[in-house]
Amino acid sequence: MSQYVLVLNSGSSSIKFQVIDPSADPSHPPMAAGLVERIGEPKGLIKIKTENQTLEDSRPISSHSVGLERAFALMTGLGLGPLDLDLAAVGHRVVHGGKEFTGPVRITKDVVKQLEDLVPLAPLHNPANIDGIRECMDLLGHLPHVAVFDTSFFSDMPDAAANYAINRELVKEYDIRRYGFHGTSHEFVSKKVPGLLGKDPKDVKQITLHLGNGASATAIDGGVAQDTSMGLTPLAGLVMGTRSGDIDPGILFHLVRSGGLKVDDLDELLNRKSGLKGVCGANDFREILEKIEQGDEDAKLAYGIYIHTLRRFIGSYMLNLGGLDAITFTAGVGENAAAVRRDALAGLENFGIEIDDARNTDPDAEGPREISTDNSSVKVFVVPTNEELAIAQYAFNIAQEAQES
Ligand code: ADP
Repeated sequence: MSQYVLVLNSGSSSIKFQVIDPSADPSHPPMAAGLVERIGEPKGLIKIKTENQTLEDSRPISSHSVGLERAFALMTGLGLGPLDLDLAAVGHRVVHGGKEFTGPVRITKDVVKQLEDLVPLAPLHNPANIDGIRECMDLLGHLPHVAVFDTSFFSDMPDAAANYAINRELVKEYDIRRYGFHGTSHEFVSKKVPGLLGKDPKDVKQITLHLGNGASATAIDGGVAQDTSMGLTPLAGLVMGTRSGDIDPGILFHLVRSGGLKVDDLDELLNRKSGLKGVCGANDFREILEKIEQGDEDAKLAYGIYIHTLRRFIGSYMLNLGGLDAITFTAGVGENAAAVRRDALAGLENFGIEIDDARNTDPDAEGPREISTDNSSVKVFVVPTNEELAIAQYAFNIAQEAQES
């Protein structure tokens, strides 16, 4: 069995993929990374990046399968095609695994059917994930394909955290539950923490903060998720780039009754026109920090709500965990925005949390690292996430088990 895994993340109009050695160091760039964009639009784009070259193809792409076929042909031209590499497996990111999928699975026809049954829970994401799986399985049918779910890590959450206080009959009929998302990232990052602390994983209480365009917080005790900020959908919880995070549901009734908004308007409003963008017009954190420097009041307010919400979750998780060993920041904002890390944890010395300014702002720092002071009894870390590597590792292990049995 070869050592390489193809990892695929298929969206509604784009496909991201990487060819990865699952045993490589997380900081090691993938062997190849590709992007198929603007599927179904007049101008498509396929971009492939390897260690020493970048290739582009900007012809229109009529479908996911056309995009994948062309991307694989470009890779073959580089000697990195799926057949050249004799891949071990293909790992697929799947957003929603419902209650059924509590861990990664080898994809069979039955699994695809089960994924189709979950579409009502994730109408924006799962259909595109399923298309990517189908088309990739058509092209690479000889390989084991493995689905890795954003929700699985939260399947053992305590009932009190996983349930909403609404009518039980409706809950059962519509499978309503706090499923949580970004699970692959929270798990990947949280697994590094016991090693950094020099503790047994079962003794570690921790909070992981995945702060990217989407953002979520998770409380973890002994490796098991205890609570998480996203819910039935990835709209809940923290303030995000364009998503509102938690709001009073009564706001929606008010907008329907007084503003005449329809379901699709509300969906668009809360998923794409809210969050940081809704408050200050920008969703890229670098732009927001620049606007604040220039004295922009809306950007200051957006940042203020973002930090306030983050602290609200950190505080409640600390209390519910009944103690805390570590807080870890990850993803684009978490890994790069020292100001966010400082402000999220400012003034918490009485709770044993103290950021070391020099460690937090060290421009040369990279990889997993501590940013708290030596006195801080709760350790604060930055751990770069690598969801694709985690998916490659799961897919490789499942393919290997299948080969051995
Ligand atoms: P996604 O959820 O799309 O995977 P990422 O994890 O890549 O998102 O995070 C994207 C976010 O990270 C953007 O808001 C971007 O502005 C922010 N970001 C990236 N680099 C920096 C930086 N140096 N300083 C502040 N924010 C940054």
